[in-house]
Amino acid sequence: MISMTAFWHDSFLAHEPPAGEFEGEWTGRLAFREPHPDRPERVKNVRHIVRTELPQVAWETAPRATDEQLHRVHTPEHVTSFESFCADGGGRMTAETGANEASYRAARYAAGAAAAAVDHALEHGLEDVPYACVRPSGHHAQPEQVDGFCFFNNAAVAAEQALADEAVERVAVLDWDVHHGNGTQEVFYDRDDVLTISLHNDHWSWDPEAHPQTGDTDERGVGQGTGYNLNVPLPPGTGNRGYADAFDRLVEPVVEQYDPDLLVVSAGGDAGTVDPLGRNVVTKEGFETFGARARTMAEEFASSRLALVQEGGYQVSHLGYAMLGTLEGIIGIDSDVADPFAWLDEDADSARRRVDEIVDHYSEWWDLDGT
Ligand SMILES: [Zn+2]
Repeated sequence: MISMTAFWHDSFLAHEPPAGEFEGEWTGRLAFREPHPDRPERVKNVRHIVRTELPQVAWETAPRATDEQLHRVHTPEHVTSFESFCADGGGRMTAETGANEASYRAARYAAGAAAAAVDHALEHGLEDVPYACVRPSGHHAQPEQVDGFCFFNNAAVAAEQALADEAVERVAVLDWDVHHGNGTQEVFYDRDDVLTISLHNDHWSWDPEAHPQTGDTDERGVGQGTGYNLNVPLPPGTGNRGYADAFDRLVEPVVEQYDPDLLVVSAGGDAGTVDPLGRNVVTKEGFETFGARARTMAEEFASSRLALVQEGGYQVSHLGYAMLGTLEGIIGIDSDVADPFAWLDEDADSARRRVDEIVDHYSEWWDLDGT
C-alpha cells in the first residue's frame, strides 16, 4: 500500500503579495481592492482537506533550502536581491508578482521542501511518495528573474537535488500547471540530463521582460538540450478527456523513451474547472487520473521514484478538491468525495485536434503514434 509524506512549513502562510485589481496593480477605478489571487488560503485548504480525508498522508516540517541548493538554479545575486527586497518591506516586483517582508523566508522553505521531497523519493521510492505542499510556487522563476508569483524555482531545485546524487543521471519534470512552466524550461534549456514537459493553456508570453518564453512547440531546447523540452499548449476548454489524450499520445511515450531515474511533477491545480487564472475544465476525477498516471509512469519508466511539488491553483475551494484528487490517484484510493464544481463540459474536439498537431510536430524526434 502506497502512503505519502507531505512537506510543509508554517512560513508558507505569511507570504502575501500586494492587493490590487485581481493579480494586477491598483488603479483606483474600482471600489474594492481585491486580495492577490495567490492567497495563503490556497495551501491552508489543501492541507486541511488532505488531513481530513487522507489520514495515510504524514506531515513533516520542511527544512530551509541551503545556499548550495538555491545556487544550483539561481545566481547568488538573485537570491540576495530578493532577500533585501523583502527585508525592505516588499512590494510589487513585476506587473503581477509581489512580495512582503515574509516572502523570502517562505520561498526559502518552499525550495527546501522540494529538495527534501527528492531526498525522500530517493530513499523510499513509491512506498511513501513525497509531496512538497508549498507556497510560493516556483515554475515561472528563472535563474535571475521572478515571474508569475514565483521567486525560487522549487521544481528545478528538486531536479538538481536529485542530480547531485550519484544514483541519478536523468530527471524528467512533468508540469501540468495550466500555465507554461517557463522558468523550469529556461533553467534546463541547454541540458539533456533534465527533460522538461509542460502541459498548459496556449497563453504565450505575458511580459516581454519577465516572461520572454512563449510555451510554443518550437521551443525545443538548445545545444545539448535540443529535443529535451516539450511544450503542449492546449486550447481553452480542455478537460479530462483532452488531457488523457495528451498523456496517452505525448507525455507517456516521451517519458518512457527518455527513461529517467526520477519523475518530478509540478502539480498545479489551476487546470481545474472554475479556476480564475486558467481556461481549462479538469475535475477532481481528472486530477485523480493525473496522479494515477504519474505513479504508473514513475513505476514503469522512472525507477519507481516520484516527487510532487505544488504549483498554482487559484480558486481556493476547488484547489483543495483538485489536490485531494491528485493525491488519491497517487495512493490508488477513491475517497468518494465528489467535485462540487464539476458542471461545465469540455471542448474535447478542439483539444483532440491540437493534440494531433502536437503529436505530428514531435513525431520527427520521438516515436509517437501518428494521427
Ligand atoms: Zn499556474
